[in-house]
Amino acid sequence: MENLIILGTGIAGLTAAIYAARANLSPLLLSGREDGGQLTLTTAVENFPGFPNGVQGPELIAVCKQQAEKFGARFKVDAVTTVKKISKGFELQLESGEKIQAKTIIIATGASARWLGLESEQKYKGRGVTTCATCLPTGSTIVANNAPKAIDKIEEGEQVLTYDGTFQKVVGKGSRPFKGKLVKIIPRYFREEPTLLTPEHPVYAAKMKRGVGANYRDMKWEEPQWVPAGELRKDHILLYPIVSKTIDVVNIKIADILKLDVDEKGYIKNNYETYTARRIPNIVPINRDFMRLIGYFLAEGSITPRGINFYFGPKDKEYVDDTIRIFKTFFDYDVAVKQEGSVWRIECYAGILRDLFQKLFGKYSYGKSLPHWFVYLPVDKQAELVKGYYRGDGGIKPEGFSLVTNSPKLVAQFKTILLRLGIIVGISRRSKDVLNKTKNVFNGREIKFKHDRYELEIGGSYLRLASDMFGVEHPHLKNKKRNNEFAWIKGNYAYLPIRRLETVDYDGEVHNIAVENNNTYVTAGAIVHNCDGAFFKNKEVIVIGGGDSAMEESLFLTKFASKITIIHRRDSFRASKIMQERVFKHEKIKVLWNKEIIDVLGNGKIVTGVKLKDIVTGKTTDFSCHGVFLAIGHVPNTSFLHGMLEMDELGYLKADAWTHTKVPGIFAAGDVQDRRFRQAITAAGSGCMAAMEAEKYLAGME
Ligand code: NAP
Repeated sequence: MENLIILGTGIAGLTAAIYAARANLSPLLLSGREDGGQLTLTTAVENFPGFPNGVQGPELIAVCKQQAEKFGARFKVDAVTTVKKISKGFELQLESGEKIQAKTIIIATGASARWLGLESEQKYKGRGVTTCATCLPTGSTIVANNAPKAIDKIEEGEQVLTYDGTFQKVVGKGSRPFKGKLVKIIPRYFREEPTLLTPEHPVYAAKMKRGVGANYRDMKWEEPQWVPAGELRKDHILLYPIVSKTIDVVNIKIADILKLDVDEKGYIKNNYETYTARRIPNIVPINRDFMRLIGYFLAEGSITPRGINFYFGPKDKEYVDDTIRIFKTFFDYDVAVKQEGSVWRIECYAGILRDLFQKLFGKYSYGKSLPHWFVYLPVDKQAELVKGYYRGDGGIKPEGFSLVTNSPKLVAQFKTILLRLGIIVGISRRSKDVLNKTKNVFNGREIKFKHDRYELEIGGSYLRLASDMFGVEHPHLKNKKRNNEFAWIKGNYAYLPIRRLETVDYDGEVHNIAVENNNTYVTAGAIVHNCDGAFFKNKEVIVIGGGDSAMEESLFLTKFASKITIIHRRDSFRASKIMQERVFKHEKIKVLWNKEIIDVLGNGKIVTGVKLKDIVTGKTTDFSCHGVFLAIGHVPNTSFLHGMLEMDELGYLKADAWTHTKVPGIFAAGDVQDRRFRQAITAAGSGCMAAMEAEKYLAGME
């Protein structure tokens, strides 16, 4: 039986967790449906004490979570459906089917966005009507600076690849629960991970013109546009961006990277030098030879406690010599070469080079990657890197070349680099579970795969380019047979026909990120648009409500929409004066007072306006707009407690000034019991009180 279970991971729950964990209660937190609470859906919080320059809501939550974890709080992703009294405490039934027991409970389940309750509102949900639009399921990877990353793990300030091939800064994050159908898109070529998204989420695609030739090369297509995922058909072609910017780096300085000193001759001074140690030159040129060495390292290199080892196959004497020569020329270093059975082993004992390679390219094969600036290097250098990699982990298959790796980061980077080289690579992934279903024997030893394995295939019309690049004539080139081409490059995009479209059921969190300048981001196989504010770029939208959220949302939307009208049911706002003033001052924002929305209008597909009723005169009018943003407050998340705890007529839990509910052992904190203040700081304060009261209760001191 747990000492204390805290329901909710918003600011109230997390503060309670920090206090309870420090009291050695080892609290267990259940995230519920909206992990992190309402702060994760806001932008800047300007009134939380201690942050004179404001703090981003999601960031505040993230650091509170870290703080709670540091003291021993535990987290579980699940929601409670019912709470039952048992002899020495309570039994909680979880959505996952599990049951857990606890001596005390703190309820900090907060509140969720309120909807108007109109039928038409449901119909146009996600098609112009939104409380906070967020759309990709947890775990969906998107291309971030240096690595593909799960959308829910991306931090603000990180850079992501966007629709025009540039990397841009993430400026906001959001998530919400979603239950319903998701669209699953599997493009040709980039098959390592299907893109899953809510049907209304726009994807950058072009429609093929019908009846033009059988070969894709001869196809014509319409101008690309943003198509809601649910409206994609097999005659759409997905666009995928190519990074076009080139930034050359002529050399790197080891001392800067490893923070070491340099002697008068320009060699690195190591902190721990032995008599025999040879100093390594500080400046390393980033030229084609060095790029090839990196290719060898990514494929065949491994970091050992003593240095770096490279392994080459029995026929690879040429590459062994190449490696020896590069080490000698660049680092003035003689590597040791050993032949073990059928394998060549090159050993480099220089600790500095080991540290350098580990820092720049990673230690374990599944984590190997390139620093982000490699993506921008001139293509001739990049080609040499791929060549080195091919010599290590490449092979010839009947129809093409293949490269293998178990590093998802490297897959994403090679994909980007190969696109710059004019090659669309076919990518497939075999999960470790599938790989381990069969017995795998290597050199007489049975091996179990710990990571998924990716294969990158270069074939079809790209075989010529790759053969020239690798300096290896692929045998298939001799066949006169015409190569089929299922995808092609034009301008700054790869055009990827759709291989399969499916719908899948989903019940969980969906996420979205706001991205500076163009608000787009890229998954493994598609460019998607943030369908939040940015989708209403240069469009007219309305925001309904008169509280702080309505002010905040309107001000946020000024970045995108051409005109924002706040529609409020009274003749004054309840929002804080400072927020009201900002709204009144903004030239893009207008206010319509004393109006109620009685219907959402649309053409069956998207919102075209709303029907308004004047509260004073009773007159109805139509108001045209493209988007309807609701900011009409919240409803407390207490439905699972009906019959167990006392609530007011709006569903807020009744608790005394010390956070006690009527049931001994159950405490309430945060917005779930506060219809008056509902501030981050008051929620945190009540979380602290609840934890201290729970501690007293447990100690039998009541
Ligand atoms: P709120 O303060 O409860 O405001 C909700 C607004 O929606 C009210 O103006 C209300 O009108 C209107 N409304 C409610 N039901 C409606 C309906 N069915 N139809 C039309 N209008 C309706 O909620 P909130 O703005 O989400 O703020 C919640 C709490 O968080 C507040 O305590 C707020 O201070 C805080 N917050 C702070 C910040 C910040 O400081 N940056 C930002 C966001 C939120 P009436 O006025 O007529 O009741």
